[in-house]
Amino acid sequence: MTNQRFEEELKLWKWLGDKLLGKAFNAIRIADFEDLKKVVKNALFDDVEHLLDKTGQKTPPVNPEIVAKERKVIEIEKAALDTDALIVPCRGGFLMKINEKLPVVRQRFACAHEIAHTYFFDLEKDPPCKPYRRSASRYWVEEGLCYELARRILMPTGMIKTWMDNATPPYIKDFRAMMRSFLVSGELLSYRIHDLAKWNVLMLIFELSDSNGNGSISLYKVLKSGNKLNNIHVARKGLKVKDPVLQELLSRAFKDKGEVVEEKRLNISVGNLKGEIASFGASYMGSYPPKVIAILCL
Ligand SMILES: [Zn+2]
Repeated sequence: MTNQRFEEELKLWKWLGDKLLGKAFNAIRIADFEDLKKVVKNALFDDVEHLLDKTGQKTPPVNPEIVAKERKVIEIEKAALDTDALIVPCRGGFLMKINEKLPVVRQRFACAHEIAHTYFFDLEKDPPCKPYRRSASRYWVEEGLCYELARRILMPTGMIKTWMDNATPPYIKDFRAMMRSFLVSGELLSYRIHDLAKWNVLMLIFELSDSNGNGSISLYKVLKSGNKLNNIHVARKGLKVKDPVLQELLSRAFKDKGEVVEEKRLNISVGNLKGEIASFGASYMGSYPPKVIAILCL
């Protein structure tokens, strides 16, 4: 990281820390930049969970539009936009616009993501304004945090933990049930499972190159959860599935959209991962191009 970039990012993290923790922030011993980021992130995550408590929502699906009110969003407008959503500072808070053409699940995500953006404004000013000028490095820090915060808004720890504790390997039926109950995309849910690290699983997301079902299946994303699998490197995006057993299981999942495919004690290879999988589950999770998630318990 260049010096200027570092200084810019540092200022942003410190500003967030001050806003969220006030005097307590100065009293915290912070070892280095990484530590600062961790402290500020945790403060943001706590604040988001707290927002949700304030709205009194205890069971999924979370309604993000109610949460938005707690962050001074005074009006939400569904409109024809050429982007997913945006917030506009105005007297008294923000006006949020959400693209009406998006499917509901994506509208919900867009709303949660925009709520997260309010943390980067000084809400004591009216209309709210950004405390610093635009820069590319700060833009990316902000975007990254908004993605993390959005999935916490839609899947708060308190709500999702109970589901995860009561789930059974290979968790695929639970995964489907959670997607439906929390009204989130499979990809967002897999990221949240990765954040929480409660299951020891590898989540491999596959994509079909041709939506008619005839194309080749390739790896789209690898997400890990739990501490046992940290040093496993599977492969990069784009790896074509060659293993015939895996190919067959995934094809079934792509075809039977409503079903789950489950197997115990399976020998497969994907990239660097070769050998016995204790339990395996796969399910279609929609989106375009079509995607299937495979959950592997080693
Ligand atoms: Zn954004």
